[in-house]
Amino acid sequence: MAGLRELYQEVILDHNRKPRNFRRLGAPTAAAEGYNPLCGDRISVELEVEGDTLRDIAFQGSGCAISKASASMMTAALKGKTVGEAAAAIEQFRAMLTDERPADASALPGRLAVLEGVREFPIRIKCATLPWHTLRAALQGRGEPVTTE
Ligand code: ZN
Repeated sequence: MAGLRELYQEVILDHNRKPRNFRRLGAPTAAAEGYNPLCGDRISVELEVEGDTLRDIAFQGSGCAISKASASMMTAALKGKTVGEAAAAIEQFRAMLTDERPADASALPGRLAVLEGVREFPIRIKCATLPWHTLRAALQGRGEPVTTE
């Protein structure tokens, strides 16, 4: 699996250096904030939902390379998807990292399956899932900040 590990590191480094959709939206229709006290990652996710479509999605915050790469890949993969597709991806991503016997991760959009490598580093799993918890809170319109604890 050396090839996958190299790809995993390369993708994370690339998204950490050049995070996609790392900005504020002009007119977000939903937003949420998340915090991972284990690592100190803080993230805010903003959405522009039109009808049933995620017209735009962006994030801001500070955190480790894993949390930033996960947020960057999440926004890149889900922009333009429907709310239902986003909810399915949230569940697939969670299952990929936390289920004992995860289903095939290749169902995830974009290159998100690469983050399956985070399973090898259990202390980093909350870093990777934080943006997704935050997105779910934004989609559900919850006002209070989410925490991974
Ligand atoms: Zn972290």
